[in-house]
Amino acid sequence: MLTDSFGRVHNNLRISVTDRCNLRCTYCMPAEGLDWLPHPEVLTDDEVGRLIEIGVRRLGIREVRFTGGEPLIRRGLVDIVRRTRALDDDLELSVTTNGLGLERMAGALVGAGLDRVNLSLDTLDPTRFRTITRRDRLDDVMRGAKAAHEAGLTPVKVNAVLLRGVNDDEACDLLEWAIAHEYELRFIEQMPLDAQHDWHRDQMVTAEEIFARLEREFTLTPVSEPRGSAPAELFLVDGGPATVGVIASVTRPFCGDCDRVRLTADGQVRNCLFARQESDLRGALRAGATDEELADRWIAAMATKLPGHGINDPSFLQPDRPMSAIGG
Ligand code: SF4
Repeated sequence: MLTDSFGRVHNNLRISVTDRCNLRCTYCMPAEGLDWLPHPEVLTDDEVGRLIEIGVRRLGIREVRFTGGEPLIRRGLVDIVRRTRALDDDLELSVTTNGLGLERMAGALVGAGLDRVNLSLDTLDPTRFRTITRRDRLDDVMRGAKAAHEAGLTPVKVNAVLLRGVNDDEACDLLEWAIAHEYELRFIEQMPLDAQHDWHRDQMVTAEEIFARLEREFTLTPVSEPRGSAPAELFLVDGGPATVGVIASVTRPFCGDCDRVRLTADGQVRNCLFARQESDLRGALRAGATDEELADRWIAAMATKLPGHGINDPSFLQPDRPMSAIGG
């Protein structure tokens, strides 16, 4: 098992299959994009498959989330999903995506064994979408969400970040829209993971503010089921059955219950989203390490995990890799 010195067990693997993205969200990266990983540094499909297999067969991984960058632009994604599903019917498999291309790929992903998608969408307004993402693609995202829902990749979870003065007046509209389409909406506090290092705490829209905005139009009641390791606090909307989630990563950290481990597109284990150190599996893998040796390296990487992200400590330092290169 992938345990750490605080007794946390990590059975939830988030694996980035590319650091590239086809949007340019202002809170994520500059307009010109980033220096992408050179192709030889990115794990091949076989290498990805092998590391997932080690995670599942030897280290107790029960949930695999494919992330990026934008994972749908990875050519081999459907095969990687298929290969992962073949390991175990009971694994929970999902993709975090911006939705572009989902309309085209939803059927193939279901056929390969994917269970569901998490879609990132911050606004329903085409002009705002263009401002936030620097691309005019809102219609594609909407069609992608619909296709995922129709293909059975449910519940379609929609993740929204509210940005002060940009879209923070849309909380209620987004929730109304999500309920009408049977999507599960979750608001996420913006975290300091942008490439430009422009995040400022006083600009962040807090969970408290999100609640205050939603409660102007909806009655929110905490769901009775325990939250476990889930990052979202869930609330019934107007008595249910619809729910809304709030992920208060900064103001109400949930690190004590963390079960997540990350693998970057270039084969580095990150034991925390905010880790400042990584453990190289790709180098060992390409040097001929056995599965057992790779598993041992992975176990050792988890043992040094810190208790939490430390954003609220004065000594906090943002990780060198931005979110798009870590995998969400
Ligand atoms: S910040 Fe790190 S420890 Fe906290 S929940 Fe995220 S990955 Fe887990």
